[in-house]
Amino acid sequence: MVTEAPQFWNTKLLVDMTQDEWESLCDGCGRCCLHKLEDIDTDLVFYTNVICHLFDERDCRCSDYPHRAQKVKDCLLLNPANESQFKWLPTSCAYRRLAEGKPLEWWHPLLTGSQETVRAAGVSVQGRTICETKVTSDQLENHIISWIDF
Ligand code: SF4
Ligand code: SF4
Repeated sequence: MVTEAPQFWNTKLLVDMTQDEWESLCDGCGRCCLHKLEDIDTDLVFYTNVICHLFDERDCRCSDYPHRAQKVKDCLLLNPANESQFKWLPTSCAYRRLAEGKPLEWWHPLLTGSQETVRAAGVSVQGRTICETKVTSDQLENHIISWIDF
């Protein structure tokens, strides 16, 4: 008889995960590295296709993850004990989903064993962004996108 190992994301709270487990929840979509705009009257948040200059488009990853806090002051440093941060994440993000009691999406690499499914499902930002160095802050509004649910 074969007994499947329990999937840690179904059995552990975010705060109880090991560092490796926590990091493996990130699907590498890159969505949290996009600039967002907030309407101060309605609190609505809009995603743009403008992305942080440290984002590496080829790998769809931060190019200096260990030093991201020192290099980018508004980088969202997720803390498992601070779930209020997760409202800034897209609804597809595993951290937000688990914090809201939802399962991982079918395309998550922990379920499929492949990063390819993130792209196949249209979740990755790869090939769909423009670097922040090419856009001024007053042009951000022109870059609002509708392909991310928030
Ligand atoms: S939105 Fe979530 S899953 Fe996607 S890159 Fe950011 S932290 Fe990782
Ligand atoms: S510093 Fe890295 S993790 Fe933070 S927003 Fe920029 S690319 Fe993303």
